[in-house]
Amino acid sequence: MSSEDKFIPKMLGIICNWCCYGGADLCGVSRFQYPTYIRLIRVMCSGRIDMKHILTAFLNGADAIFCGGCHINDCHYNPEGNYDALSMVNLCKKLLEHTGINPKRLRLEWVSAGEGIRFANIMNEFAKEVEELGPLGKSEGIAPDEMKSRFEKIIKLIPYFKLVKMKELAIHNPDQESYTRLYTAEEIDKLIREAPSYWIDPEKCQACMTCAKRCPVDAIISAKQQVHIVDQEKCIKCGTCLAACPPRFGAVTKVVGAPVPPPLPEDKRAIIRKARKEKAS
Ligand code: SF4
Ligand code: SF4
Repeated sequence: MSSEDKFIPKMLGIICNWCCYGGADLCGVSRFQYPTYIRLIRVMCSGRIDMKHILTAFLNGADAIFCGGCHINDCHYNPEGNYDALSMVNLCKKLLEHTGINPKRLRLEWVSAGEGIRFANIMNEFAKEVEELGPLGKSEGIAPDEMKSRFEKIIKLIPYFKLVKMKELAIHNPDQESYTRLYTAEEIDKLIREAPSYWIDPEKCQACMTCAKRCPVDAIISAKQQVHIVDQEKCIKCGTCLAACPPRFGAVTKVVGAPVPPPLPEDKRAIIRKARKEKAS
């Protein structure tokens, strides 16, 4: 391969202000070398890194992502954000596996502000590994369009993963090894396969507006005397509307493993009250 054809990875590092960024800074001041194609973004805490940051970076063409924080029990915040990063990265790795992407493309390390040489060593080792893996998707045998659609699907489900895995994502356990066993591949496959959708039956909805008032993300298209509609793009699958809809109406349905019916056109959403309907017939 000529030097012109050499694969130059797009690598992103998301690192915490207090320790890992200090380590990167010391690395630079000490003139330790690491590849210039690794771009760094500073965040206040590794616990601030969200699944959405990671998966969106992959969607937008990153070949690998590095997350860096303070060593465990050295986090500058209380409760320690690096435990959150640990659990979140392990979940992301499982999601990458589900997507068909090599989870080695995502790496989490702890680097203190005094460990400039450690920062350089990790960057060099990770860069070498990614160069060997090759471009995202190519070495995994996934076409760009297919990969894009897989990432888009997973990104849409992030709020749902956070809800369902809230307990695991909040675990603080000094045994770091235990985090690799938090999520199994089978469990993640099942979680995605059985991700529910919520649908409002236009025949049953009485426009009482209870669901719209309780929805935490304004995902219900609501108007007086109009059949209510779940905006599937905004819905985070929390199920609040299902619990909120009065049993006498029972208009909200949980749909699993099937597409939801398309929403009623706007000009057909006017409510015909049950009582009036009965009188008319
Ligand atoms: S499931 Fe939750 S987010 Fe979705 S429409 Fe119902 S209340 Fe809103
Ligand atoms: S709570 Fe039930 S009946 Fe009331 S607006 Fe929502 S879906 Fe319709």
